[in-house]
Amino acid sequence: MKITAITAIPLSFRLDQGKTVTMGIGSTTKRDAIIVKVETSEGITGYGEAHPGRSPGAVVSLIHNTLAPMLIGMQATDCIGVWKRVHRMQLSSHGVGSGASLGLAGIDMALWDIRGKAANMPLYELLGGSKRRLPAYAGGISLGYQPKESLAEEAQEYVARGYKAVKLRLGDTAAKDIERVLHVRKVLGDDIDILTDANTAYTIADVRRVLPVLAEIKAGWLEEPFACSDFASYREAAKITSLVPIAAGENHYTRFEFAQLLEAGSVRIWQPDLSKCGGITEGLAIAALASAHRIPMNTHSSATGLNHAATIHFASAIENTQYFEACVSHYNPLRDMFGVSFEIGKDGCVEPLDKPGIGIEVDESIFAKYPLIDGPGYVVKF
Ligand SMILES: [Mg+2]
Repeated sequence: MKITAITAIPLSFRLDQGKTVTMGIGSTTKRDAIIVKVETSEGITGYGEAHPGRSPGAVVSLIHNTLAPMLIGMQATDCIGVWKRVHRMQLSSHGVGSGASLGLAGIDMALWDIRGKAANMPLYELLGGSKRRLPAYAGGISLGYQPKESLAEEAQEYVARGYKAVKLRLGDTAAKDIERVLHVRKVLGDDIDILTDANTAYTIADVRRVLPVLAEIKAGWLEEPFACSDFASYREAAKITSLVPIAAGENHYTRFEFAQLLEAGSVRIWQPDLSKCGGITEGLAIAALASAHRIPMNTHSSATGLNHAATIHFASAIENTQYFEACVSHYNPLRDMFGVSFEIGKDGCVEPLDKPGIGIEVDESIFAKYPLIDGPGYVVKF
């Protein structure tokens, strides 16, 4: 079964006033996703998702003009061979680094979808996992900067749906962040896990002020206080308290960057995104590295139901999953366009789909509704 075609389909939609969410990387103006379709000589077609970075048109061009020509003709089941070729030609020499990782991620996810369909097995089974219930937290683009009262109301809405954990956005001012987390803890009580994410907007001085308060409210983690490559600040932050682990990984690419996180010795919760880190093949390598160092995996998942469903399969097939990040955005048609990819139970858990492969039926006629709007999806006030 050979790879005969690789097609990247960019999709976008705008967020109107009132539907935007503000967080450490700015306010959402639109959302984008790239669906990657891989066709084979046996007529089996697989679909994956590549994160658009902040430049969906560029990632689509990279997939069509650079990655596809080097992979067409290879065995569709040869995920390791594909990984080796992209790593050799695009990731390690004269390539475009993280861009190649985004493109590879979508292709690799589609190849795993093909493998599952060929074997007539749901992906979690193919990966060696079982259908088990996985704790989920209310995340995605939600719970952004807003008055503490409405933030607590939004969090309560997710708890009422079944979530036992919610993620609040920090990185506003330290004073406002502290006011919000204290209020939400008071309203939710002690039984809900409160997670926090600064989306790289903090300085080390901010973290010195905020971390002791996060320890006081027993927050589950502080995610991405700093830029992904700022290892010195990560090391410094980890010395402030051991009571709140520092989390990162959605902006780290390939097993090699996760190995650097290990060397920095400061990030105790890993959050690779299967549509960014290089795909499921790469994710398995990262999960094994984490397992050997007793680091919990909280696999980040982006825009569409494809990545959400693939992430739940993956999370069911590694031994160190902590939470699935459920996208609870009030408005995300890219999440919903293929039907339901996960359902939260009253126990706060989700479980993997049962159909072969990723288990999502892709109706390509829907794509025409969400034509590409190129450019970045966030506006930041400088
Ligand atoms: Mg995050």
